[in-house]
Amino acid sequence: MQSINQLIEHPLLVEKQVTLVLKREDLLHPFISGNKYRKLKYNLWAAKAENQHTILTFGGAYSNHIAATAYAAKEKGFKAIGVIRGEELENSWQTNNTLKKAYDDGMRFKFISRSDYREKESAEFIEALRKEYGNFYLVPEGGTNSLAIKGCEEIITKEDKEFDVVCSSVGTGGTVAGLIKSSFVHQKVFGFSALKGDFLRNEIEQLVDNERWQLVTNYHFGGYAKTSKELIEFINLFKDITSISLDPIYTGKMIFGLFDMIKHDTFAVGTKIMAIHTGGLQGIAGMNSVLKKKNLPLLNI
Ligand SMILES: *Cc1c(COP(=O)(O)O)cnc(C)c1O
Repeated sequence: MQSINQLIEHPLLVEKQVTLVLKREDLLHPFISGNKYRKLKYNLWAAKAENQHTILTFGGAYSNHIAATAYAAKEKGFKAIGVIRGEELENSWQTNNTLKKAYDDGMRFKFISRSDYREKESAEFIEALRKEYGNFYLVPEGGTNSLAIKGCEEIITKEDKEFDVVCSSVGTGGTVAGLIKSSFVHQKVFGFSALKGDFLRNEIEQLVDNERWQLVTNYHFGGYAKTSKELIEFINLFKDITSISLDPIYTGKMIFGLFDMIKHDTFAVGTKIMAIHTGGLQGIAGMNSVLKKKNLPLLNI
């Protein structure tokens, strides 16, 4: 499966004489958004090959990964269990768009406290889950493992050789690791961290086999899922100019950062940049309900 490359027309790109193409992975599938499609593909194959009937995974209240896994599991004939961070959601998940849709797609939930959630990868916790649910194929939080990286290696195709720079948002690092591995030798991959801190640099280093990459760590806007008026307004303006929606957690921060770097002449005249639109648009409704409570401007859908 191959997504389309869309040329972005924007005054800044004309002024700085750089070319920007967005690879529209967000359009790959209506419900298995962008990189989550890539990350699940070989995992679901492996689950079938192991003759498993149930997929179990982890995520937060607005998780793109939960939404994608619920739908993909349904499509491939698996049962799905989502272990969800936050006990308080037990009584309110029906009003959460992401969880409601995942439930309608057949996923069943186990809500756990934030402290239990931190222990979710421990052998004891997994063992307790197996006692409760029987055998399952475990997909880690965010979906990152070696099969996910293998899937993400398929994002770059031979037609993408013309680009000098490849950009992606980074959550767990699985997607950017796949891109780094399958990039052409003349390309440089920039990963824009959606999280605060630079621990991801070490994690990505463990997953890749070359040094054609850089982690950009100054466009996290305060941390994972944190936003600001400036970011929301940037995303809305980008949509006005290009008709393309970006999500506020990942792709919005990446494009904000990329435009800031272009503004500051990081890239030579003539540079051809390909940025990956990894999807995540299902989370906008949830983010808008948070923004509303904070009296911040809303994202245009
Ligand atoms: C999950 C996600 C990411 C992060 O992917 P990782 O492989 O965890 O780094 C980026 N963008 C979107 C839209 C996502 O949903």
